[in-house]
Amino acid sequence: MAVPQRRISKTRKRLRRTHFKLEVSGLVTCPQCGEMIKSHRVCPKCGYYAGKATYLNGKVVKAEQVKKAENAGKKSTRKAPAKKAEKAE
Ligand SMILES: [Zn+2]
Repeated sequence: MAVPQRRISKTRKRLRRTHFKLEVSGLVTCPQCGEMIKSHRVCPKCGYYAGKATYLNGKVVKAEQVKKAENAGKKSTRKAPAKKAEKAE
């Protein structure tokens, strides 16, 4: 039976084992919120995909629909302060 000629030193063994590690693949940082997310998927935290909002009341929708809903919401809430805020921006 084949037998190793020399014993493997602690250093050699440990150097070899530095490569025995797991890597998390396919994760990228969300450009919108900076969270680690799976690539090519809608961000589960902020609901953005490719820099556009995609979530509305928990459903995936087109970015245009989100904008429409946001505009409708602004009109319904306090008219006077909202206008002031828009002018300031
Ligand atoms: Zn995000």
